[in-house]
Parts: sequence; C-alpha cells; structure tokens
Amino acid sequence: MKVVLLGPPGAGKGTQAQRLQETHGLTHLSTGDMLRAEVASGSKIGKEAKSIMERGELVPDAVLISMIAHRITQPDAAKGFLLDGFPRTVAQAEALDRMLSERTQKLDRVIQLVVDNDAMVDRISGRYSCAKCGAGYHDTFRKPKKPDVCDACGSHEFVRRADDKPETVRTRLEAYDRQTAPLLPYYKGRGVLSEVDGMAPIDQVTTRLGKILDAA
Ligand code: ADP
Ligand code: ADP
Ligand code: ZN
Repeated sequence: MKVVLLGPPGAGKGTQAQRLQETHGLTHLSTGDMLRAEVASGSKIGKEAKSIMERGELVPDAVLISMIAHRITQPDAAKGFLLDGFPRTVAQAEALDRMLSERTQKLDRVIQLVVDNDAMVDRISGRYSCAKCGAGYHDTFRKPKKPDVCDACGSHEFVRRADDKPETVRTRLEAYDRQTAPLLPYYKGRGVLSEVDGMAPIDQVTTRLGKILDAA
C-alpha cells in the first residue's frame, strides 16, 4: 500500500506515521527527516538545504524529486510506504505519479489531516523528540509517561528542531497554503483523497487513519 499524509506543519503527520508504520507494516518516509540527515552529514544537498529550511521555505523540487525517486526503490519501500512531507508542490505530485506509473504502481490513498492553521503555532512551539530514537512528544499534548524519560527507549536526551520557532512557523504555514494546498483538488480529482479531523486527540486520529488504511 502506498499512502500520502497531507497537512500543514504541526498537523500530526509524523506522529501518526510513526504509529501506523508499526500497526500497518508500512515504511515511514519523511522528507524532512531525510533533509535533516543531509544537513547533519554536511553533504552537498545538506549544504544547499540548510539555510532554506531555517527560513521555513521549500527546498527546490528537483532535489526532493531525485531523493524520493531513489528512496522508493530501496528494499524496505517494497512492503509499502507512508509519505510524510512529500509531495509538497504540484510538480512533486506529478513527478511522483510518473515514477510510480513507470513501475506500474499507483498511490492507494492520500489522507488530509484537516486542522485549524492558527492552532499549529502552539503545536509546533511545544514539539520535541527523543534524541536517541526519534519518538515525538509535546510539552502539553503528548508528554512522556515518566518526566524526561522517553517512553520508547528510556533515553533522557531530547531535541528541538531549529526551524520550530514561531516566526519560522508562520513562513512554513504560508508555504503550505500557497504551494501545498493546491494538491488537495489535484488528488480529489483523482478520487484518492480522504479527510480526517486532525484536531481530535492523537489516539482518535490514529484509529480513524487505521480504518481508512484497512479499507484501502
Ligand atoms: P513539518 O513536518 O513540520 O511540516 P518537515 O519535517 O516535513 O516539516 O520539513 C521541514 C523542512 O524541510 C520544510 O520546511 C522544508 O524546508 C523542507 N522540506 C521537507 N520536505 C520537503 C518537500 N517535499 N519539498 C520541499 N521542501 C521540503
Ligand atoms: P507534522 O509532522 O505534521 O509537522 P507532528 O506529528 O510532529 O506534526 O506534530 C506536531 C506536534 O503536535 C508534536 O509535538 C505532536 O506531539 C503534537 N500533536 C500531534 N498530533 C496531535 C493531536 N492530534 N493533538 C495534539 N497534539 C498533537
Ligand atoms: Zn527514545
């Protein structure tokens, strides 16, 4: 099964993809995580992407398209994948359609997490994750069960993203509205779009997404 999760920064794409990869045996492909790994390694792509990401703007389509074209041919993608953060422009969506159809494949579902954009600044300002295993948390909405101990791996070290600052979040939300929201009519026209209320509590969102995947 090949699924895209769509929604603005903070909608819950990463949180839900981490859970669904466990329950549904899908590989979580996050282009944000891939780009942060490139930045951390100091690669050519990382050097190009760093300042763009810090400003909250989109990295050029060509970079993302070749990154995903390579990634979906890796063995772990064969069991199916959940795309989180890609596509983000119509050009990326068209490229994805082309790369899948070349392999006689297609997207099974595109799921929009419908949220109130104004609430996303609080979501992102409170976001942090485990430095060791990447499990996601929130200062108010998703605390670890034991304070300062990761539920998943027991680590005491947590990290916050450099671009999760209120000023940058505004730019990222604008980029979503201008460049990514046009994907909604694009996928609706192809009959693959489902909507889920992303303002519901995390567990409820997971249940609803699970039902859509089970029916796909
Ligand atoms: P969030 O989940 O908060 O929306 P991501 O981790 O998906 O953020 O992305 C972080 C940053 O990486 C984006 O603001 C953008 O600069 C870059 N990025 C990630 N995916 C893409 C993409 N498909 N196209 C262009 N830029 C991207
Ligand atoms: P995205 O990947 O779409 O940018 P995340 O999954 O990283 O978003 O979620 C952003 C922040 O909001 C995280 O700190 C996460 O714990 C929290 N969060 C995610 N989903 C919900 C929800 N349904 N209700 C409240 N907080 C949530
Ligand atoms: Zn952990």
